[in-house]
Amino acid sequence: MTCVECKSPLSYLDHRKSMDKFQAELCPAHLKRMEKFLAQNDIPEETIILYYALKEKGIKPMMAWWDGKRTVDLAISRVKLNIEIEKSLEPLTSEKALQELEKTMHSYKNGFTTIRIPYTLIRKDLGRTVENIQGIIDGLRVNIKVI
Ligand SMILES: [Zn+2]
Repeated sequence: MTCVECKSPLSYLDHRKSMDKFQAELCPAHLKRMEKFLAQNDIPEETIILYYALKEKGIKPMMAWWDGKRTVDLAISRVKLNIEIEKSLEPLTSEKALQELEKTMHSYKNGFTTIRIPYTLIRKDLGRTVENIQGIIDGLRVNIKVI
């Protein structure tokens, strides 16, 4: 059991605490850093869970990425993919839905694809969520000239 960021060994308790929170092994210092990062950026907790799950597969996402107009929860710039985590499962009001649509349009204009994932899916089926994101990345790679 070692921290995924700094490789320092973890006690069982630290391991448990970090796994319960982010489903990734983080030492107390890195756990605290991530909690601070969450508090400073308006992103859901599941962003960090997904971030580390993708990292484990060799994908390098950026968290709380500023695209010039807004903060994107996760972005994979190599294939111009934005991932937004849906915080609520309540149906959207038409005003909110329109805002989302405008954001998606803005992203498309910059050549970015946006996918939205409900936070509950990340909690309940992280493995298959990541599998599908990998599939999307593979598909985008074919369509986009990767620099
Ligand atoms: Zn660490």
